[in-house]
Amino acid sequence: MFETHSHLFDEKIISELDIILENLNSSNFLGVICICENEKDIEYFIKYSAKYKFLYCSLGIHPHNAKNYDEKKFLEMFKKLQKTNRLLAIGEIGLDFYYNFSPPQQQIQSFNLQLDFAKKYELPVIIHSRKSKDILYEILKQKNIKKGILHCFSEDYEFAKKIIDLGLMLGVSGIITFDKSESLKETFKNVDVSFLVLETDSPYLTPSPYRGKVNNPLYLKYILETLAKIKKIEVNELEKITDYNALKVFNLV
Ligand SMILES: [Zn+2]
Repeated sequence: MFETHSHLFDEKIISELDIILENLNSSNFLGVICICENEKDIEYFIKYSAKYKFLYCSLGIHPHNAKNYDEKKFLEMFKKLQKTNRLLAIGEIGLDFYYNFSPPQQQIQSFNLQLDFAKKYELPVIIHSRKSKDILYEILKQKNIKKGILHCFSEDYEFAKKIIDLGLMLGVSGIITFDKSESLKETFKNVDVSFLVLETDSPYLTPSPYRGKVNNPLYLKYILETLAKIKKIEVNELEKITDYNALKVFNLV
């Protein structure tokens, strides 16, 4: 399996990280993307990626922290991660007008700057969007962003189609395992499987049947199994397809 989105160095999960990584290692994970956003994440990533070859990373300032975006600091962090040869994407970046932890204008500005950065270095992007889909879409279209993932997709089919038409993929998270996710299930039923990748968003969004526990990439299988039912595809087959999609979007094939 390929886990396309996890915050493994989050304080909620860090005390269990050694055990989780050993388990991931023996479960033959093809890849796990660690979302890095600050110096602490980078330190952990450098340490653990030396030991575990399946770990890859992405660098981005989350819209919540857009007010702290500093171009010079970002470039420094980027260069440190580049040395690991495991930096595959820019993200998670985007817009969150639900929480507005950073003022909308600053979110838009830091999103634009990081998209430019991704284009300059020819890297795919991992995008977060909440209550911001129309403006987010306009920015992606205007910037001609063609490669990446709209993570934790939870919008309708019409929006899914617009994102796919740009060339991006949709991240399928544990939300599909929840009760009351009928309309999202319906959306994924209608989306071609070649545009879907799997993600846990650990330590958040724990899938059923482990809701209430801290999420980790080992729970990805519950998302895979649920999606297999929705798509009426055999689990092993779907695993192969979503693995290939992830390898493709991160330029590993
Ligand atoms: Zn995330």
